[in-house]
Amino acid sequence: MQRINHWVGNRTVPGTSGRTGKVFNPATGEQQAEVDLASSAEVDAVVAASKAAATAWRSTNMSRRAEVMFRMRELLDANRKELAAILTLEHGKVTSDALGEIARGIENVEFACGVPALLKGGYSEQASTGVDVYSIRQPLGVVAGITPFNFPAMVPMWMFANAIMCGNAFVLKPSEKDPSASMFIADLLRQAGLPDGVFNVVHGDKEAVDRILSHPDIAAVSFVGSTPIAKYVYETGTRNGKRVQALGGAKNHMLVLPDADLDMAADAAVSAAYGSAGERCMAVSVVLAVESIADRLVGKIAERIPNIKVGPGSDPSSEMGPLISREHRDKVAGYVTGAAAEGAKVVVDGTPRAAGEGYFLDPSLIDGVKPGMRCYDEEIFGPVLSVMRVSGYDEGLRTINDNQFGNGTAIFTRDGGVARQFQFDVNVGMVGVNVPIPVPVSYYSFGGWKASLFGDQHMYGPEGVTFYTRTKVVTSRWPDPRTSSVDLGFPQNR
Ligand code: NAD
Repeated sequence: MQRINHWVGNRTVPGTSGRTGKVFNPATGEQQAEVDLASSAEVDAVVAASKAAATAWRSTNMSRRAEVMFRMRELLDANRKELAAILTLEHGKVTSDALGEIARGIENVEFACGVPALLKGGYSEQASTGVDVYSIRQPLGVVAGITPFNFPAMVPMWMFANAIMCGNAFVLKPSEKDPSASMFIADLLRQAGLPDGVFNVVHGDKEAVDRILSHPDIAAVSFVGSTPIAKYVYETGTRNGKRVQALGGAKNHMLVLPDADLDMAADAAVSAAYGSAGERCMAVSVVLAVESIADRLVGKIAERIPNIKVGPGSDPSSEMGPLISREHRDKVAGYVTGAAAEGAKVVVDGTPRAAGEGYFLDPSLIDGVKPGMRCYDEEIFGPVLSVMRVSGYDEGLRTINDNQFGNGTAIFTRDGGVARQFQFDVNVGMVGVNVPIPVPVSYYSFGGWKASLFGDQHMYGPEGVTFYTRTKVVTSRWPDPRTSSVDLGFPQNR
């Protein structure tokens, strides 16, 4: 059985804890590898290696750092297919989706190549007579990233590219469910010329996470995952004096107004709800359909569902792969089977497929969903689309704003004025106007509101650079014998 080790100092390092996790092929249900799960002592060793590397790395000039990141960009580009195959094998996503994830991740690496432009400080000449004041941005030291199973390549790229370019050393604790992508990326960074110890991977579960959150030499933690763990990571990390950005779960609504192009809205809803088997934090989970067009919209969505080809991610004709695990598949199926008992109408039932060895579910569509039902109140994270009928814009907006999550949302309309009002009113961090999955491009930043994010800084882009640096302000005077005198008064600008 293949054993997936840690990555420290630009080489694989076997675990010593005696604990391992199982890695499955979701398309077959077979175990295909085991992954080392680090003890606290092993985390300590990884952090020590990172700390030793951080000092030299922050002294390495920015052009040299950018050279490494440019080479990394080229290596990722040349290895897209190999990385996609790893994603499909462990996560299950179809090849086209895996390639899409990698493409969006590479955009973050490209952005990072230009980070030196954002590390410029400010300069005020002659703030006082003969005195200049300027600010500089410096790295934090050792920073850590803890990532979820659903984007094993892209989410680490959201983090490490900026963190490293800012001059930090980075410790990645990837999801133990699909850990191989992080090892592949680590080896590409080695090939790109990143010095030993600047990027390390420690595999693990709660024990490793808890040590990261308490380790005195880790200055900041970036987390992406479910809301309960995000809250825990934020509270624990900040209590231990760390800077933390913790992105959580989601329940993304798509409001469809009567003037929308209903075919375009149905295409968008189906793509955004069932792509990647719904295991995307920006997936559309609820369509808010204004009553006057609801029957037609539900019909158009339902008629598209049988055309979706569900199958192994490695089959080029598959459009939707399996879910990540048997437990998760059964949990998702439970939301559909429970919906009828709660008074909703299951229009398309994808659960009969759940009987096989692979973790497949077919797409499901539930109509008549209301707050208070489990399938509405909880994040499902699977191929289940709920439809809630609303009287109009106001009820739709109120529903979105009342929801505990605020990651993404979208409005479908031809009315620019209403769309503009929506972007003004809605309490959600990422908004689409006739765009169902409004993931910001890499030179903006990614993050939700409310229970979808704990912390002050969004991830990647300019806010990522802010997160991974701290400012220092220098007040400087060059000795000038003509102006020197003893003065015990409070320093004033003269
Ligand atoms: P998860 O919260 O179970 O795991 C995320 C990370 O936390 C993993 O590395 C895992 O090892 C670790 N972890 C799990 N349980 C822990 C515990 N008890 N203590 C400490 N660490 C623990 O999330 P997941 O199932 O891997 O990913 C799916 C979730 O991630 C969904 O809720 C999804 O919405 C969310 N997500 C959010 C975003 C976003 O940008 N907001 C992006 C992707 C995924």
